[in-house]
Amino acid sequence: MAKVLVVEDNPANMKLTSLLLHSAGHIVLPAVDAETGLRLALDEQPDLILMDIQLPGMDGLAATAILKQDPATEAIPIIALSALAMKADKERSQTAGCDAYIVKPLRYKELYSVMDHLLQVSPPPANQTVPLSLPAE
Ligand code: MN
Repeated sequence: MAKVLVVEDNPANMKLTSLLLHSAGHIVLPAVDAETGLRLALDEQPDLILMDIQLPGMDGLAATAILKQDPATEAIPIIALSALAMKADKERSQTAGCDAYIVKPLRYKELYSVMDHLLQVSPPPANQTVPLSLPAE
């Protein structure tokens, strides 16, 4: 089970994505724009981020670049979601620091496969603190 931040402005896509994630037992943090996504990423430290590229205002690639430049969020894997099968989008997403790239509409097998891979290889967040001792009871 992972905590997954989904940054997606299209309600139908958000619904589908949430359904797929919930079906796999994940917790979904929804954000409808980049600004909300950035705040949730900092506050909630999700295990993974699904980032729509085309968002109103700041786009998903600009938001990714900010997250990857911040030590507090740089270790969180980000999967770029593109509505268009454009090679330029894939290259731009890699340049921005995205760890993977998926073309919408989402196919559950591809989503689960990419997520499993990223959740396995990703190191724990740098700011995750491990308690030195258990609380005395
Ligand atoms: Mn969009």
